[in-house]
Amino acid sequence: CGIIGYVGSTDGADAVDVVLDGLARLEYRGYDSAGLAVPTPSMTVHKTEGELSALEAAVPRGEHAGERVGIGHTRWSTHGAPSDVNAHPHSDDEGRVSVVHNGIIENYQRLRDDLAAAGVEFRSETDTEVVPHLIGRYLDRGADPEEAFRLAIDQLEGSYAIAAVFDGAETVYAARKDSPLVVGLGDDGTYLASDVPAFVEHTDRVRYVEDDEFVRLTGDGAVVTDSEGGIVDREPETVSWDA
Ligand code: GLU
Repeated sequence: CGIIGYVGSTDGADAVDVVLDGLARLEYRGYDSAGLAVPTPSMTVHKTEGELSALEAAVPRGEHAGERVGIGHTRWSTHGAPSDVNAHPHSDDEGRVSVVHNGIIENYQRLRDDLAAAGVEFRSETDTEVVPHLIGRYLDRGADPEEAFRLAIDQLEGSYAIAAVFDGAETVYAARKDSPLVVGLGDDGTYLASDVPAFVEHTDRVRYVEDDEFVRLTGDGAVVTDSEGGIVDREPETVSWDA
């Protein structure tokens, strides 16, 4: 299973190309389905059970030409059978936010019951789907995207590498606990992945994300913060990797 995220700089690459290539480089981690979201100019999600070729058929390269923001996922099912519906990304009812997740949300049943009681209709059988709905609930209450993301992540118990994009926005938010996540700082944009091979053809300057840290990716870099919101100042390292 794996995650990739990208926000291109002004002359960055097409997000769909970066995401599909990155997912292909994460195939070795194993998966049963795959998907991606492009949030600009408005939220679009594609997801398919089976091989990456199925996803690539559903979202031909060039379909979102010029769009520089995207997240992608390869799923190794833990909750809910492999299917198009259970594949990630998962979104809130209004399509304001889309989320990819590797890991297991241990307290998802309680969160799901609470959200269902508040009127949320779940589409999938995954533990993950509580996350976009939680974020949506905080948006409803007036939180901005970053606050809503942080407040939702604070509710989670379990293991996760999570990335989220918001409708129309050129930013990727991410968080991790007990699941790997690394940022890549490139000249043509900023990358996020479960593992370096996903983006090493673009950049070898990386920042590993630690447990309980949050990341905000934009086209010209990444800001890492701790659970209190304080900025974490860690110098990027240069990795050597045979791509
Ligand atoms: N627990 C999530 C699911 O079953 C994520 C699985 C994964 O790590 O790919 O959908």
